[in-house]
Amino acid sequence: MSDLRLDPINQQWVAIARNRRDRPMEFVPIEQLRQQLICPFCKGNEEETPSALTAYRSDGSMLLSDEELSNWSTRVIPNRYPSFSFRSTEDRDQPESGSQSCGPFEFNHCQGIQELIIPSPRHVSSLSELTDEELKLSFRVCRDRLEHAKSLEYIQHAMLFMNCRLAAGASLGHIHYQLLGTPVLSESLISRTTRAQAYRTKNGRSMLADLADWEIAQEARIVDLTENFCVVCPFASRFAFQVWILPRSENFDFTSCDEEVRNELALHCRNIVTRYEVTLDTPAYNLLFHTEPFESSNGQIGYFELFPRLTLAAGFELGTDIWVNPVAPEAAARRLRPSD
Ligand SMILES: [Zn+2]
Repeated sequence: MSDLRLDPINQQWVAIARNRRDRPMEFVPIEQLRQQLICPFCKGNEEETPSALTAYRSDGSMLLSDEELSNWSTRVIPNRYPSFSFRSTEDRDQPESGSQSCGPFEFNHCQGIQELIIPSPRHVSSLSELTDEELKLSFRVCRDRLEHAKSLEYIQHAMLFMNCRLAAGASLGHIHYQLLGTPVLSESLISRTTRAQAYRTKNGRSMLADLADWEIAQEARIVDLTENFCVVCPFASRFAFQVWILPRSENFDFTSCDEEVRNELALHCRNIVTRYEVTLDTPAYNLLFHTEPFESSNGQIGYFELFPRLTLAAGFELGTDIWVNPVAPEAAARRLRPSD
């Protein structure tokens, strides 16, 4: 059983996830363990994982539950070692009681969802190894699962992300997206939403569209530019080679955009990963799909972020939340541009 505890000094939620201690990576040298494991995500090893929540054929059609071991291309399973507890399937659509106090702290029974989206039955170890077909279908399935999370009354926000390689937090080599739906909102999510809404009220436009326009006019940090997206190393990059993929239209929403636009986004993500691997010697990296809290969802802060894990956050960053970046974003953009 997990629970969520609120640190009143930093107004920060923490999930106490006791069952994660049982994860395969704990207490054993990871490289040694990886060599011994049968990959549970490869085709033929489906019984090593919990049953699929849903699975798709390569043509995009959904497999029936008793067909899940046949020719799947993308498979969605619950996380066996979740940070957030599950209720039984029958109870999942019902809201749970709210937060309670514990001395000066607050806690909340940690009811959320945590799913893994496996984008290929082949043993693919990076987004760059997905075929066009696998890449585009997996982004569609990500959209479908986010849409499903939105429909659950007790979920306030869902974070969709990919951790690739050990230094980025991956415990298995076969890449997968993760969707983590939470019953509470973090302070940073609330303040990000409030800032975006205040910006729109004051300027009549979305902050993201204005940022994209400004970066396009500046040119120096642009990595790539297509009809619907601006790919940029942001002016105030927290990490070396951090990349934002900013929608160029007002009110962009990942769950409702056209297939063509979603495919354009997927190709940008894979292109950046390929550039990281060529330029930076195959680093670990994270891909984040930033979405708004469901209640305030109106397309104001939907954007996408990638960064390689080249350095560790140290005492200063962890103590102050002020980041030291050793590579100027202008230099990073020059190295990541496709023409270089
Ligand atoms: Zn595998």
